[in-house]
Amino acid sequence: MHKKGLLGQLIQNLCCLPGVGPKTAQRMAFYLLQRDRNGARNLAETVLQAIDKIGHCEQCRTLTEYPFCEICADSSRDDSLICIVESPADVWIVDQATQFKGCYFVLHGRLSPLDGIGPDELGLDLLEQRLATGSVKELILATNSTVEGEATAYFIGEIAKKYQVQASRIAHGVPMGGELEFIDSGTLSHAFKGRKEI
Ligand code: ZN
Repeated sequence: MHKKGLLGQLIQNLCCLPGVGPKTAQRMAFYLLQRDRNGARNLAETVLQAIDKIGHCEQCRTLTEYPFCEICADSSRDDSLICIVESPADVWIVDQATQFKGCYFVLHGRLSPLDGIGPDELGLDLLEQRLATGSVKELILATNSTVEGEATAYFIGEIAKKYQVQASRIAHGVPMGGELEFIDSGTLSHAFKGRKEI
């Protein structure tokens, strides 16, 4: 099959999506061009706008097109409780699966010295500034239960101690090596309620 020209380019670019290989990309490209050109145009325009306008919340670092995300800007949320997660997707997952009414802090990764990811890359200086104000009562460490996620939780737990802030780790139900994204909401809800001080 030829992969030249705009059509080839479209197929190749669709392959940047997770889980999309050349065959699926080919199917998508033909579908968009033959069956749904309007949908394709909307998709392209929304992707462009999202890329131009969506940045990071100044307080919690999650994705938003505003200076502060919806959760940080919501005065009914308890900002003395902060749930620490690895990715913006985890904010949505925890928020949908639990009755958590506090705020979040997004690391955008986990400590990984071999990959050059240290405390600065995770925005921990920003988190420390927040702890230093004395307004935070508890950190809930909801990093993934991988080796690096555990090490990150431990590291942040030590920072919390420095500021005499209670830190708890989500516990039961999250399988070892598991990532929050792939856990059903019942299990995650249970894990959240069963968090313990570390
Ligand atoms: Zn925010």
